Amino acid sequence: MKRLDKPVITMDTIKAMEDMSFFTHSLIFDDLLIIAQRETNCFVLKSTEGLIIIDAIWPKVEVFNAIITAIIDVGWNPDDIKKLILTHGHVDHTGCGKWIVDAYHPKTYLSERDDIFWRDQPVKKNRPETWKDYSIDVYIKEGDTVVLGDKTIFVYSTPGHTPGGLSFIFNVKEDGNEHMAALWGGSNPPEKIADTVLYMKSLDHFLDMAESKKVDVALSNHTSLDIGLERIAYSKKRTSYMPNIYIIGKEGFRKYCQLFRNLCYERLEKLSERVNDI
Ligand SMILES: [Zn+2]
Repeated sequence: MKRLDKPVITMDTIKAMEDMSFFTHSLIFDDLLIIAQRETNCFVLKSTEGLIIIDAIWPKVEVFNAIITAIIDVGWNPDDIKKLILTHGHVDHTGCGKWIVDAYHPKTYLSERDDIFWRDQPVKKNRPETWKDYSIDVYIKEGDTVVLGDKTIFVYSTPGHTPGGLSFIFNVKEDGNEHMAALWGGSNPPEKIADTVLYMKSLDHFLDMAESKKVDVALSNHTSLDIGLERIAYSKKRTSYMPNIYIIGKEGFRKYCQLFRNLCYERLEKLSERVNDI
């Protein structure tokens, strides 16, 4: 059977990133919670010393409420939020961080490059309510680790989608057994040929790192990239004999990365047509 070899991203996909009409969440591992709106999602990782929020969706109080409600729903305590770590400086990931910081005072993490990028090139230039409104405590880069209790987040520099984009690898548990999860931080390939080429180099680097860390779990921060809403719906209802849909194995992760490579090929074709038209 012929299956799609890349995610479908349309103008509606981009528009739906601001759709706050519904939220959904699921505890997809013993210690990893996913919270999503229509197109964008974040994660909460539970360690023995507290909670780490990874990305913060969109800057709306509804998002903050959805994240806190989900944490409480799975029996965790939002007062245990200790860290907020961001993949990159786009508004749909820096999101409701201000509310989280004001309420729970977690330490915040991002690359230095994207902290500047975020300040100087806000995605929505004419909409101040979406601009940077909280500060970053710790600048992180390739080779760094963010450690809390029994959790270590390995940090990789994966520029392309943004100049200082980051991707993460960290340990999660399924019925007490350890797995290694990889979150590709930048999603849609950029609008310039050079940036798309850089994106592909970053992807190759991340795949190498993922193989060395024996990654067998693929995570995404956009639902259109990994059939995210359906995976969440499945995870909410799966019964004890059903496999965890996020565990795809080493070979599966390699194939997952190929989808992003295919997106880049498509983008490069379009960009080179544009150059040829000039
Ligand atoms: Zn982005």
